[in-house]
Amino acid sequence: MDPIPSTPVNTLQPTLERLRTAWQARKPDYRQRHDDLSRLRANLKRRLDEMARIIASDYGHRSPDETRIADGMTALNEIDHLLKHLRSWMRPQRVGVGWRFWPGSAQVRTVPLGVVGVIAPWNYPVNLALIPLATAIAAGNHVFLKPSEHTPRTSAFLRDLLNSTFPEDRVAIALGGPEVGAAFSALPFDHLVFTGSTAVGRKVMAAAAPNLTPVTLELGGKSPALVCDDYPIEKAAARIATGKWFNCGQTCIAPDYVLVPKSKRDALVAALRKEVHQRYGEKFENLDDYTRIINAGQYARLRGYLDDARVRKVERVTLAGHSDPDQRVMPPTLLLDPPDDSLVMQDEIFGPLLPIKGYRTLDEAIAYINARERPLALYPFSNDRATVERILKDILAGGVSVNDTLFHFAITTLPFGGVGASGMGAYHARAGFDALSKQLPVFRQAGFTGGDRLKPPYAKAQWLIDLIVR
Ligand code: NAD
Repeated sequence: MDPIPSTPVNTLQPTLERLRTAWQARKPDYRQRHDDLSRLRANLKRRLDEMARIIASDYGHRSPDETRIADGMTALNEIDHLLKHLRSWMRPQRVGVGWRFWPGSAQVRTVPLGVVGVIAPWNYPVNLALIPLATAIAAGNHVFLKPSEHTPRTSAFLRDLLNSTFPEDRVAIALGGPEVGAAFSALPFDHLVFTGSTAVGRKVMAAAAPNLTPVTLELGGKSPALVCDDYPIEKAAARIATGKWFNCGQTCIAPDYVLVPKSKRDALVAALRKEVHQRYGEKFENLDDYTRIINAGQYARLRGYLDDARVRKVERVTLAGHSDPDQRVMPPTLLLDPPDDSLVMQDEIFGPLLPIKGYRTLDEAIAYINARERPLALYPFSNDRATVERILKDILAGGVSVNDTLFHFAITTLPFGGVGASGMGAYHARAGFDALSKQLPVFRQAGFTGGDRLKPPYAKAQWLIDLIVR
């Protein structure tokens, strides 16, 4: 397929102005937001199979079922949640003023900001574009989206979907790579939501700084699974396997490495092998359900990690099949106890390689995680309440699923976001709606108020000042 032409950089600012002028002229009310979200939902739902085919063509191959779950269900689920709560979230909240300010009254209104920019990555190219977009629409904003250049057919699909759903002065889309991304993130948005790598996140925040554009940064990092001594190894293996090999590990919250008691390391390896055989076949013949690495660059990056591990004589366990660089197939592969300075323990893996590290004590495992950047996700496996509480108290991560992986992302009542190097701010749930709104405080003064007397000469108001200053 021909490359899709990039949006000329000099058209970005005029597009933003068009969106802002239209927003200022007619700010979306409840009815419009509800209609917009309903239309978006219906149009996406109608085109789910086409979407799965298009994403698969960008990947070379991607399991259509994984696409329907991860790009379809997640976006529909979030839109349903927004539709359900929109009216109550928009309602002004009356708040008390305290007796000193009686008989005035006060309320907090949640009002739209203006135009929200959204920059999305390639790994869940529809979900990670449409959830921030739908949240911004729910909050009454207009939206300018820039999807990833690495999924060009999906970006063209998104353009078509959005153009058929929204007028062009309400939602616009810019296509292109880093050059367009850099110019896009320097636009004076009212808020910018970026999902992508920590390295590019730093650039986005720097580009937004001169405009004082507030940013939500949804970044990456190394998310550990911490298997505790009491937890059944087979169950942990099954759930870690789902989190790791869904989308071939190309998931921001995939378990990046596993910490397991030393005595159970080999049992975990055996259980993971069994899981992989059950899912993809002993000869790795069920490749329909196994996703390819997105492009040659990412494949080479992952090969580099394996080469580095080989040089360091790290024990490597290929759980099934073998690599096929032409098809960009990389099989589920374990790396046992790699040293901390090896590339797989330094970089976010974002692929099907899984380091397994044995630990002696839980203290040691917790200290290991805490000696590194704050992870985007944390997966403790334990049925012991006190142990789980201890882990939750001792480790700060962006989000947690206890005794499973990935699920906290999909729960619409939970805010989603990183902390430290894994990101700032959150979306999903009410948190996303609030982040893309202004909480407008409104104080309404009464006709008669003691406040009128608080003026010089203060000698005349001493009784009142004595009353309130106590
Ligand atoms: P990336 O950072 O390379 O690209 C993300 C987006 O930024 C793309 O649209 C890209 O065109 C754009 N971009 C590139 N250079 C830019 C620049 N200088 N200024 C502005 N924009 C620029 O990330 P990726 O490879 O597409 O995605 C993988 C990364 O994203 C991983 O680190 C992963 O963990 C992270 N991620 C995070 C989440 C999350 O929710 N926290 C979700 C998915 C992926």
